[in-house]
Parts: sequence; structure tokens; C-alpha cells
Amino acid sequence: MSSSARLAAIRAQLNPTSLFSSAASSQTQKTPTMSIPSTQKAVIIETTGGPEVLQFMTDYPVPTPQEGQLLVKNNIAGINYIDTYFRTGLYPSPKPEILGREGAGTVVALGPGPNPYNFKVGDRVAWLNTGGYAEYTAVPAAKTVKIPDGISDEEAIAGFLSGLTVLTLAKESYPVKKGEWVLLHAAAGGAGFLMTQVLKSIGAKVIGTAGGPEKVELVKSLGADVVIDYRSEEGKDWVKKVKEVTGGEGVSVVYDSVGKDTWEGSLEAVKRKGTIIWFGNASGPVPNIQLTRLSPKCVKIARPTLFGYIETREEFEFYVNELFKLLKSRQLKVKIHKVYPLEDAAQAQRDLEGRKTTGKLLLKP
Ligand code: NDP
Repeated sequence: MSSSARLAAIRAQLNPTSLFSSAASSQTQKTPTMSIPSTQKAVIIETTGGPEVLQFMTDYPVPTPQEGQLLVKNNIAGINYIDTYFRTGLYPSPKPEILGREGAGTVVALGPGPNPYNFKVGDRVAWLNTGGYAEYTAVPAAKTVKIPDGISDEEAIAGFLSGLTVLTLAKESYPVKKGEWVLLHAAAGGAGFLMTQVLKSIGAKVIGTAGGPEKVELVKSLGADVVIDYRSEEGKDWVKKVKEVTGGEGVSVVYDSVGKDTWEGSLEAVKRKGTIIWFGNASGPVPNIQLTRLSPKCVKIARPTLFGYIETREEFEFYVNELFKLLKSRQLKVKIHKVYPLEDAAQAQRDLEGRKTTGKLLLKP
């Protein structure tokens, strides 16, 4: 397909009206607007594949906010492992697509119709949806919140999707209790860095795994009780170490976002009547499992996603308020691995998949 035909297809899919059409302008008469261009910089994918399928474009259409949506000029976007699942096709999604599940920036226009959350042009907001690898994103107002003073856009996004995830994991997927042994894989990563802190604040005894001595030191610095370098010769048998540390019993809960490579070990490391929370596929998805494998130890398994816990506005606000309180008071610290320019999105994903990062990766549109 030629580049202009491709753009026309994208326009038709995304953008039935232009911002400057009559439908949009009747709305903009009621609400003050900022100057909005018709095209923007964005990173799109047209097919699944490796990081090379990410295409940086400078003439991508700016979307028009529809009813229930806001148009946000992104100041910063988050890069999450889930972006790679949509890129590879592990999680199916319509293409062409702009990846990126979260962003922070300024509301520049409101869609027509009711405005139940009282947003206005100029609000500084954080949002969860899709399309973050771009200068402008049309996002659902229901999944957008104002960022309180005292939290920067970068801090908000370093903690947003990842922080909301770990709060739901520790409160709902398995309500962690003080004094329990917990095993957390990839504890130095974007979610892991925050989860270690949340688990310690609850008073759990944390065994973290991480790849390499620097990551191990980082997780120790967060107060984890035991940290195992599961890529080292000594740490390869991390199940044995978990059993030793827990007096042969195993842990009450395993938080496993690595998936394929850790799955068997997680089943061994969990204690009788324990729980495994499988919440990601960094090494690939968990193979099919016979449920009868769970019976000898009466093990429970859950496979949660953040979006399932924050479907209603009430749920979303509950966790956001909790998160912003923790971020503002610095009880929850964020760690930004690097802020990548938008055109380096492919490199950022390479670094993430190459296990070269700690904490959160951000993208600057
Ligand atoms: P991370 O920053 O944690 O990066 C992934 C980490 O996984 C790597 O740094 C690496 O740490 C570890 N890892 C282990 N094996 C591999 C492998 N074969 N290839 C690549 N990495 C590997 O990413 P995120 O914080 O964005 O996400 C962490 C996990 O949480 C992901 O699995 C993600 O899908 C999941 N997640 C799930 C959510 C949900 O709603 N269910 C929401 C948010 C995140 P090391 O070198 O220490 O092994």
C-alpha cells in the first residue's frame, strides 16, 4: 500500500471527522481550546513483529475526541512490557496501531456531550488506554485523572500503570498479610521495583529474584529480605534457596510475571495451600497446565490484569487516590530507567526485552 493510501486508511479508522469539522467546531465553541495541529509525530505499527516494525511518522493524523473522550497533548508516555505483547501479536489487536497504554499531559480539547468528571482544557492529567506513543491521544475521560500538585508528569507515569497494577496485585489478587513469605520475580523491573516496596510496607517477608548483581543490589536497597540472582550459577536453583529460607515450607504467594521460564519453579516454590499470581509473560506465556497438578498442594492460581480491577470509575479512582497519596508522600519511590525520545521507541523496547533496564522506561513525544 502506498504511503498516502495507508494514511487515508488510518484516517478513516481513527478519525471519521477532523478536529476542524462542523461537529468538532460546535463543541469547541463551548469550550476554550488550544491550537491543535492536524498532524503529529507518532510511532505506529502496521504488522506484528520485532521492534523494527515500529515506524516513526511525522505526519500522522491528530485524532478527534469523540463523546466521552478528551484530547490530551502528551508530555510523557509510559513504556510497558505489554506494549511488546501487542507488537509481537501475543495479544491480538487491530492494526495499524499506536502502542502505549498510558500517558500524562494537558487536555487540549473535549469531545462533545456530557462532561461528568468536570475536565477542562488546560488540566494536567494522566490517562490509561491505548495510543501513547504519540504527541496527541484521544482518551476516555473515564480512564483519565487530574494529577495532583506535587507529583510531576514523569513521576505520575513512572508509577501509574505499574503502580496501579501492584496495588491491585497486593490488595485483591492476593491480599498479602504481614509476616508472610512472598516470592516476587523480576523484582528490579518497572512493576517489580514498586511491588517490592508495597510488599515491604505491608510487612511481608520478601524473596525477590533479579538478573545480575546490580539488579540484586537495587532490590536489596528496597528492603527485600532475600534476593536471588536467578541468572547466576548459584542462583539457578532458586527453588532450593526459597525452600531453605522458608524452613522447607515454601512461600504463601508467588507473583510471577516472567511466565514460561519460572513457571515450573514457581509451582515448586509455593507452599501447601499457597497461591500463584501469574500476571505477565516476559519470557513467554505459561504452557497449558493440567489442573490436577495443583491438587497435591491445594494450590490456587489467578491470572489477573489491571484493567479487570479498575473497570468502574469508582474502582479506578479508589486505586488512583491510593497511588497518588503514596507517590506524593514519597512513601512509594519511583525509578526512571531512562526517558527516550519518541523516535527511539524501538530502541526502548529492545532494551526492555533485552533485560537491560531497571525501573520504568518513559517516552518523550
Ligand atoms: P519489566 O521492567 O519488569 O521488564 C521485564 C523484566 O522481566 C526484565 O527486566 C527481566 O528482569 C525479566 N525477565 C525475565 N525473563 C525475561 C526474558 N526472557 N526476557 C525479558 N525479560 C525477562 O517490565 P514491566 O514492569 O513493564 O512489566 C513486568 C511484568 O508485569 C511483565 O510481564 C508485564 O506483562 C506484567 N504486567 C502485567 C500487568 C497486568 O495487568 N497483568 C500490568 C503491568 C505489568 P531480570 O533481568 O531481573 O530477569
